[in-house]
Amino acid sequence: MKAMNLILIGPPGSGKGTQAELLREKNGFVHYSTGEVFRDHIRRKTATGVKVEGYVTSGKLVPDDVVLEVVNAFLAENVGKPILFDGFPRTIPQAEGLDKVLGANSLKVDLAVLVDLADDEVVKRLTARRQCRSCSKIFNLTFKPPKKDGVCDDCGGELYQRKDDTESVIRDRLNTYHQQTEPVLDYYSAQDKLQRIEGAMGRDRVYEEILRLTGAVSS
Ligand code: AMP
Repeated sequence: MKAMNLILIGPPGSGKGTQAELLREKNGFVHYSTGEVFRDHIRRKTATGVKVEGYVTSGKLVPDDVVLEVVNAFLAENVGKPILFDGFPRTIPQAEGLDKVLGANSLKVDLAVLVDLADDEVVKRLTARRQCRSCSKIFNLTFKPPKKDGVCDDCGGELYQRKDDTESVIRDRLNTYHQQTEPVLDYYSAQDKLQRIEGAMGRDRVYEEILRLTGAVSS
């Protein structure tokens, strides 16, 4: 895989995180999820964690300056590697901030992939989502249940439901997505960088399609 900067955008629960993990494991991308980074800060009770906790647990967007601060710190170490951004950028100022840092390194966003999913399907999927407290692996009680109730298949860690995966918070997150993140689609579309994939196709077909778009396989 050539060193490209790939962005996965989509409503919460569209399967971005699962795809990002596949692309990391099988295709050598550095997976960078701002949501995971914030959850890690909250767990470790860092100054950033204290600052973002209220936003993350209520499903509101963390302010752009805080987001760009953590992203810039990450890029200072990783720029030039094949990077897959998951859940970032979520606003136009974040997209502009990313272009600025990449541009300063003679790099750019190569491709933005929208993994799309209808709101009702999002609610159905997310209320059934569980995550491992130890290794962050994602399960779904409907589509991909763990072998043993409440226990991670991979590492034996405890599975939990994210506080923001309850129906009312999911509806808020969807509103935020429609209002603030959908304009980011237009931003990349205007640059001819946006491709759309239907998330309801299922994990394997979405993955194949992403590979095709990144040029890793041809069909
Ligand atoms: P996610 O795991 O991507 O669903 O993100 C979980 C939560 O973290 C979001 O609901 C926001 O509160 C926060 N968050 C993650 N990424 C961003 C971002 N790029 N901009 C603002 N807030 C974010």
